[in-house]
Amino acid sequence: MACIFCQIIEGKAPGKILFRDEQVTAFRDAHPIAPIHILIVPNIHISTVNDMTTDNECLVGHMVNVAQRLARDYGVSTSGYRLVLNTGPDAGQTIFHLHLHLIGGRALPFHFR
Ligand code: AMP
Ligand code: ZN
Repeated sequence: MACIFCQIIEGKAPGKILFRDEQVTAFRDAHPIAPIHILIVPNIHISTVNDMTTDNECLVGHMVNVAQRLARDYGVSTSGYRLVLNTGPDAGQTIFHLHLHLIGGRALPFHFR
């Protein structure tokens, strides 16, 4: 399967990886919309939120915990940040490997795209 995020996780495509553990990999978004724009991605391929099962509940909780840690490490805990899970066409999802956007470092309007 030619999934660019699987390839980044496997080290077969370039990515600015900031964090990795047994469950998730976090790397810089290639086209950041804010000074801090990091993607937190499960190491297993799940296409969208629609493909999650109850087996993935802990995984998604872990993604949020990693986002919290990265927000602190990259200095936006207090200034604030947005966590986004785009799902499907109307949300503008372009990469069909589940990913949590961590966006911060500037004031974000409610509609940011
Ligand atoms: P979404 O619209 O939620 O599917 O967001 C996909 C995000 O992945 C976008 O913000 C892209 O800029 C980002 N992106 C696409 N290709 C890459 C890549 N090769 N490395 C890092 N980020 C990427
Ligand atoms: Zn994938």
